[in-house]
Amino acid sequence: MKLFNHLRFGYTRVSFFIVLFFLSSLCVAQKKQDTKPNIIVILADDLGYQDVGFNGCKDIPTPNIDRIAKNGAAFTNAYVAFPVCSPSRAGLMTGRYPQRFGYERNPQYRPYDPNMGLSKSETTLAQTLKTVGYHSGIIGKWHLGADTSNHPISRGFNEFFGHLGGGHAYFPELLTIKDSYAVEGEDKSYRTWIMRNHEPVETKKYLTDEFSDEAVSFIERNQDKPFFLYLSYNAPHAPLQATPKYLDRFKDIPNERRRTYAAMVSALDDGVGQVLNALQSLKLEENTLVFFLSDNGGPENDNASNNGMLREGKSSVYEGGFRVPFAFQWKGQIKSMVYENPVSALDIYATITAISKAPIKQDKPLDGINLMPFLTGKNKKMPHDVIYVRKYDQDQYVVRDHDLKLVIHGKANKKELYNLKNDISETTNIADKYPQEVERLDQLRKSWNRELVAPAFLGLEWKK
Ligand code: CA
Repeated sequence: MKLFNHLRFGYTRVSFFIVLFFLSSLCVAQKKQDTKPNIIVILADDLGYQDVGFNGCKDIPTPNIDRIAKNGAAFTNAYVAFPVCSPSRAGLMTGRYPQRFGYERNPQYRPYDPNMGLSKSETTLAQTLKTVGYHSGIIGKWHLGADTSNHPISRGFNEFFGHLGGGHAYFPELLTIKDSYAVEGEDKSYRTWIMRNHEPVETKKYLTDEFSDEAVSFIERNQDKPFFLYLSYNAPHAPLQATPKYLDRFKDIPNERRRTYAAMVSALDDGVGQVLNALQSLKLEENTLVFFLSDNGGPENDNASNNGMLREGKSSVYEGGFRVPFAFQWKGQIKSMVYENPVSALDIYATITAISKAPIKQDKPLDGINLMPFLTGKNKKMPHDVIYVRKYDQDQYVVRDHDLKLVIHGKANKKELYNLKNDISETTNIADKYPQEVERLDQLRKSWNRELVAPAFLGLEWKK
């Protein structure tokens, strides 16, 4: 009996530990499920559509950017919301067409003008993610207003390491202006010191390398909390400047400008590799979404970029202006695939907030769509029926509905219709053949246009 009791006690104790083990593993599973994934958005600046390996680039190897495309989804029909830098970024940071809040011009660099930049009524991705516990950092180019009220730290980011304006110089010896708030105008803004939060920092390295190293440091420092890293390279935006380390890789490219551009893209690609390697070594790959895209099409004459078959480039309403290289990896969640339906850079905000369960303000509905159901095959439809662009100052519009694309040049009173399926280069205007389609798409355009407002600030238009 004593032995029996002892055995029974033993069994009870074993059962107790088994139950405890199950409970604790349940807790771990639960904890894992509740852990919000990290988010990294890598934005290139003025990178041509065909300047990445996964879009067929031949003369500039981009093995690391291609890793993202190979690990996850490579998009062939991805659009930004506007064909130049700043309004495109305003769309990316808000998930909404920037024309809804008067953001249709590149801002002037004016550190004491609170209205020259992103409207305070809009909520940035960092502000939204803060409400669900994310730690956010931006490294690189901000370009959404230079006033302190629009500084990244004022707009939801916990950390900033970069420059407030647009086309920054790359060599440290060219960055001669210490105080970013002491200058006005674009030219001087390109030569300010880099800022860490609000403090000027004297950099020692080629700027792209500075940003890549800082990105790795950010990931290492914040590996234990859900983080959002917006790695906003100014490369390969002009000026064309590269170091021998990268130039030496392209001795075979005869055109000097293209060679320098290639070197700049290669430096950027190395940086992407550093980021992906950091995720791998910290075992964060499966818990981190990584997006890669360009903010607009390549300005081919300006920085020797190449948009391939696409017509024209940066600032244009043709495909070269706003169809961009775009890839998205989330290991374990998205299979390796090529996704051909039209998607928008605005979808990044919607996808991230859906996954992180961050609330969206009801009076600021998103124009983007959560891409996950489309990439996992749960939803076989197209994410967007229609993709729009408006360029207010030029009175130009784009309406893309499936394969049909209407381009309106208001000032010339001209409407063009293209079928992108068999005419990706927009060579043959078929508007006269299909007047009913032109009318239908124009009605969509008019209805969308009624939801928009006029530009809220003068921006660089003052030069014209
Ligand atoms: Ca740009």
